[in-house]
Amino acid sequence: MRRKTLAWHVGLVCAWLILGMTMVAHGETDVGRTVRTWANLIEQAGELGLPTGFLRDIDPGFVTVTFEDLRTYAAEYHPEDHRMILNLRLSFNNAGGALMDVDRMTHHDVSLLYHELLHAWLDYLFNGPDPGALSPRASRVLAFAREQLHCHYRFVRITPIRQRRETEMRFLSEEDAWEVLNETWAVFVGWQIWTKLEQHREAGRIGPWTDVLFEEWAARLARANTSGALLGYYEPDEPEERRVARKRFIAPSNGLTPEGAALLLDVVLEEPDNVVARGKLVINDTQDTSEEKLVCD
Ligand SMILES: [Zn+2]
Repeated sequence: MRRKTLAWHVGLVCAWLILGMTMVAHGETDVGRTVRTWANLIEQAGELGLPTGFLRDIDPGFVTVTFEDLRTYAAEYHPEDHRMILNLRLSFNNAGGALMDVDRMTHHDVSLLYHELLHAWLDYLFNGPDPGALSPRASRVLAFAREQLHCHYRFVRITPIRQRRETEMRFLSEEDAWEVLNETWAVFVGWQIWTKLEQHREAGRIGPWTDVLFEEWAARLARANTSGALLGYYEPDEPEERRVARKRFIAPSNGLTPEGAALLLDVVLEEPDNVVARGKLVINDTQDTSEEKLVCD
């Protein structure tokens, strides 16, 4: 079990995140309210046209959500005790007791919420009470994630200085590799949610795809993947490395894989087959091939 914090870092942008399964406020836990709140989140998200299927995989009692006056990060997820910490601003009336309504959040906030929810979902897949009881699609994701952790997110290149192209090789600890996969996938899910909300800004809810939206989305995805916007990172476990840099960004050559993008678009984001296929193609066509692939077995 990892002991680190997965934190969604948004630079100077002060944002945060949302809702939970077990809401803890002022030291007390109200399981009944929690379950209602989780059900509310799913209902509200569904009304906005957001994906909710993966949220139903999670036992509402698995994750504890608290609100704090966070300063360093927008939100934090602590796998060691399945705890999501959201900025107070995401709570109703800033009171720290309940999540604010999803339709009152900015698109950025909703995307951050989904980023954290993806962490919770992956935590549940890996560390939930009964992995044997996972749905077939969740099991499929877990198997694929384990495969990616074996090599693609384990023996990696990083960019020590993000603005430069130079890379260095690292063989990551299991915990760091898990963090890179977590962040890479959560960044992508957050990006997709934000992009679709922006595309449907006028309607106020996400509607069906049109040819125009489809092409615009594909172009945005290509730009995001080539600009580095979809890259994951980790906070090094190794003390010496940690002394040099608190956060390491993965190099584009170890970024989101076409297969990973397709799986997330399908299972988590509930996109239709043509979107899944196009997303996979775009990531494949825009991935960095300037460096030789690292080989591991
Ligand atoms: Zn994160």
